[in-house]
Amino acid sequence: MSSARWFKGNTHTHTIHSDGDAPLEEVAGWYQSHGYDFLIITDHNRVTDVDGWNHNGDSLLLIPGCEVSLSSGGTPVHVNSLGSTMLPDLSSAETVAATLQQGVNAVRAAGGVPQVNHPNYKWAFTDEPLRGVINYRLLEVHNASSDCNNFGGGGWPSVEEVWDRLLTAGQRIWAVASDDMHHMRGEFWGYRSPPGRAWVVVRAAERSAGAILQAMERGEFYASTEVILDGIEVGREEVTVLIGQERDFRYTTLFIGAGGKTLARVNGRGAVYRPRGDEGYVRAKVFSSNGGVAWTQPWFLTS
Ligand SMILES: [Zn+2]
Ligand SMILES: [Zn+2]
Repeated sequence: MSSARWFKGNTHTHTIHSDGDAPLEEVAGWYQSHGYDFLIITDHNRVTDVDGWNHNGDSLLLIPGCEVSLSSGGTPVHVNSLGSTMLPDLSSAETVAATLQQGVNAVRAAGGVPQVNHPNYKWAFTDEPLRGVINYRLLEVHNASSDCNNFGGGGWPSVEEVWDRLLTAGQRIWAVASDDMHHMRGEFWGYRSPPGRAWVVVRAAERSAGAILQAMERGEFYASTEVILDGIEVGREEVTVLIGQERDFRYTTLFIGAGGKTLARVNGRGAVYRPRGDEGYVRAKVFSSNGGVAWTQPWFLTS
């Protein structure tokens, strides 16, 4: 893995083939011209053909997929299928928990990698129905589109808090940030879902769909809305997060453990934490003075 490189990509993207406002070529062109390495197209309940694009150019890898968009008793349950050209089964179940599992199972059966999307969209679910769901690794902790309520409120938990609850319960789940891109055209002000606001950066051996998605399943990536990480070093004694400098921004890193507890707060571009061993897990959340965030995946200290 010493030859591994970092690849920036978005795992949640709509086109005119569902409720996006632009054709595939325009969407792909935007991400390509803005430095992305890969883009996963996830129209609702439809696999959009990306083969034509990949034959054209080599600076953006388009990966096929879809957003399995189910509903259980009116509650939306959306699970992205990443990397498969097969449309998963679209059956819902009686409960939200069973529908989540059914979505994950359908994605796996179609050969895709499941990503559980936006739990707070229409306040659909918290950690409760997710606790028993198995066979998925990716949770959309930050969805940059207009109505996904990432931060919770009014007594409802943020998606990050849901993630910490699952981690604290012993699950190994990785945080994804994505655009859930719908809007390339027209008005840019207001409740819009434009490109370029949230992404993942994946450490993989090569820029292929297989290598990138396998690395994501192993948690070898971070999620971001702005902050660039120059490196994440995990040693026996300490973990170090190296932060890239953008403009004159300043950086603060929180190291967070079981229960969502803040273990340490570190200023500057090289944030070091020395685990005591009883934290359960440790993850880093980096803030920029400009409002950007990066989330590393957790390191598990026991078992
Ligand atoms: Zn959705
Ligand atoms: Zn979507």
